[in-house]
Parts: sequence; C-alpha cells; structure tokens
Amino acid sequence: MRLYDSLSKHYHDLVARDGKAIGVYSCGPTVYDRIHVGNARPFVAAMTLKRHLEAAGTPVRVVVNVTDINDKIYLAARAAGTSSTQLARAMTAAYVTDTSCLGLGRPDVEPLVSETLPEIVILIERLIARGLAYHASGDVYFRVAAFPGYGGLSGQRPDELVDEARRIEPGAGKESPLDFALWKGRKPEEDAWWPSPWGDGRPGWHVECSAMASKHLGEHVDVHGGGLDLIFPHHENERAQSEGACGCEFVGIWMHNGMLRFGGDKMSKSLGNVEKLADAIDSHGSHTLLMLFAQAHYRSSVEYSPTTLAQAAAACDRVRDALRSLSRAAGSGADDAALDVAGAAAGAAFDAAMDDDMSTPHAIGALFVLVSAANRALAAGGLSRSGASVVRELLVARLDVLGLAGLAAVEVSAPASVVALLDARQAARAGRDWAAADAARDAIAAAGFVVRDTPDGPELVSA
Ligand SMILES: [Zn+2]
Repeated sequence: MRLYDSLSKHYHDLVARDGKAIGVYSCGPTVYDRIHVGNARPFVAAMTLKRHLEAAGTPVRVVVNVTDINDKIYLAARAAGTSSTQLARAMTAAYVTDTSCLGLGRPDVEPLVSETLPEIVILIERLIARGLAYHASGDVYFRVAAFPGYGGLSGQRPDELVDEARRIEPGAGKESPLDFALWKGRKPEEDAWWPSPWGDGRPGWHVECSAMASKHLGEHVDVHGGGLDLIFPHHENERAQSEGACGCEFVGIWMHNGMLRFGGDKMSKSLGNVEKLADAIDSHGSHTLLMLFAQAHYRSSVEYSPTTLAQAAAACDRVRDALRSLSRAAGSGADDAALDVAGAAAGAAFDAAMDDDMSTPHAIGALFVLVSAANRALAAGGLSRSGASVVRELLVARLDVLGLAGLAAVEVSAPASVVALLDARQAARAGRDWAAADAARDAIAAAGFVVRDTPDGPELVSA
C-alpha cells in the first residue's frame, strides 16, 4: 500500500519497521463540546486505514488521543459553570459514544493527556537538556532557532514566521516570538493544574501529542494523521519536539485529510457553522455519512449539504436494494460464472484502489460496477441462489472495510424499551425539547441502536 506524504509531497510505500505492526497516530478531539461532523473525518480516515490493513492481514496499531487538558476546556467549563475536569470527562464519554455510532470500531489505544503527565514532563526535561527548550518564570518554551528543520512540514520560513509572530504576540519571557510553550505556569482562573519541576501548571497542546505518540508507538511513527488545518503550527511543532528529543525521524508518512465544508466554508466551531456528529447520525444515519466521506478522497474537501447527503443516501439505497435482491435470488444460474468473474475483478479493483493512497471513490466505484452487473443478471433471472450469495458475500466483505456492511442488515426488531425511547425522542423533538431528545438518542445508542430517519418516519437499526 502507498500513501501520500505531506512532508516529502510524494507517495511512500507503507512498510512496517522490523516486522512490527504499522504504527498510526492520529490527532483526536479536544473535549470541550460534542464533536461536529468535520471532527469525525480524521477519525474515519484513521479507522478506514486500520480496517483496510486488517482486512489485508497487515498488523496495525492505531492510536487516537483525547486532548483533555487545553485552554478551550478551561474557557468552556467556566462558561458552563462546571469544572474543567468534569466537562472534559463528560465530553470524552460523549465523543466515544458519538464516534462508536459510526460503526467503525475503536482505535487500539485512546490515550488521555491527563494520564500522560509523567511522560510529558520527561520529554520537556529532555528538550531542556538538549538545549532545545528553556524555562522562563514558570513557563517552558521550545527554542525554535535551535531546531534547523523548523518549517519543513508546513513550508514556512522561520524568518517570515518571526515577522508574522511579532505582529500578533509580544515577547513575554520568550527568547523569540516564534518559540512556543511546552509548559504553561498555573494561572489563577484555571481550576486544574499539575506539579512539575518548573512549578504547578499544565502542558502545551503540541507537546501532549508528541508524548502520547512516543509512549504508545515508540520514537518513530509510521503514519501520522490529522486534518490539513493541523499542519501548522500543531504538527510542525510536534515534529520539532519529537525529532529534537530523539534525534531521529519522527514520522514516516504525514497523512492529512481535507476539510469538511458546510455552507461554503470549512465546518468549524469558531466559524459557527457546525452540525454535531450525534445530530447528523440521528438525522441521516451513520451509513449515509460514511458513504458521503467515502465518495470523496480523504485528501479532498467534502461538501456537507442537502444535495451531497441525498446523493450519499441514494448510493446507500442502491447498495441496500441490490443486497436485498441478491438474498432473494432464485434464478437459472446462467449468469453465475460471468458474475463470479465480475466479482473477482471488482474485489481486486477495490483492494487496488484502497492500496493506492486509500482511494475510496475508486474503491466504491468498483463495487457499483458489480452492483450494476448483478442487477442486470437478477433482472434477467440468471443468478442462482448460490451464485447470488457469492456476489453478496464479496460485496459485504468489501463494504465492511468502509464500515458499510450494515447495509446488508435486515431490519432488526428492537426491544420494547428501545422503541419506548424512540417514542420519547419523537415527543421531545415535537416539543422542541432538544436536551430530552438528545438524552433519548444517547440512551438508544447505549442500547446498541441508531435511529435512521426515513421518509416513512424514523426506524431503529442496530449500531
Ligand atoms: Zn496532535
């Protein structure tokens, strides 16, 4: 398999070092609110890579962190009248519920910053010992001038960055405006802090990821994922810290996903144009969202709009209908051999597309070629029961890589308690009691079901 590397701007073959599992680190959410659909995209990319490699029998270890210590959490907690620890704990649980509803499984490791403080302190001490960081009145800064490769990932020139930084930030104990914080001394308005050799405080965002990556994957990470918007400064700084501390290459392949666009702009909390992932799954179902993502290459931007959602839903329906028809096939078998060949070709084309920088649009396209051939054979009565089941199994196995195997599921009858929750959700929505509707939706998810809104009203499907 090859992946595009944002640092070298070339494709690189993905090979495990020393026969170990492929190590993948992807930057996870900062838990100060429920995540939005755009935040789900790096999660979907990392989990799709994991599922594809596992389907091919390649051992892989995926680490997606949870940033539970961050400026945004202090601010949001104060605004909500709660403690930052409580808010982070609640939003971590909500993030796990929301992303679990996508049906892609979980990463192998999901470290919290709050559980990584000893490793963060050791990393900072190492950077100080190597002359790459310095202590200044309770804070510790990375000395950018001492790391010659700075700017290599984002293509920024340090001298230009200095001019930029001078305009927006005063010195504040820093040797250079470019230097960034590794440790921030405790501030009176912050309600949680940790001890360190430099006094009470908390780590900076960038160093958190460097420490979590090396703790769980070692000093070298085969693939480092995250949104394009993280290249600068977050990944540039992670790279400087990790390579500065170990004197070795931190990342083999930098894998950056494109942005989700909503209403003509990048979906982002700061722009205010967000749809929460839980609400999107509630309204459209996880399959439609995964299809929307898979129909675009992970490095392209995706438009999140009624039109693109309707297209994705139609694509899901087409697959679902074909799978249902295949399960009912009882034809002559005249087309079995031809469909067997078409199935093998579609499977090989799917795998080749996924191996080529995870080209999900081409992979899905290969499955649609097979769906069309199957539909023609079904219409002509040429597929026998066993011939149809071979095609069906092949489609389901490949759809499973994308988290879409559930399209083959026959509607399950949910227990009465879950149906009651659905009724409660509908009543709450009708009464515009969004908090109660959210609570009912979460309880439904906890019971292993998701709500899919259809033209005939909501239906429960297993998550
Ligand atoms: Zn990160």
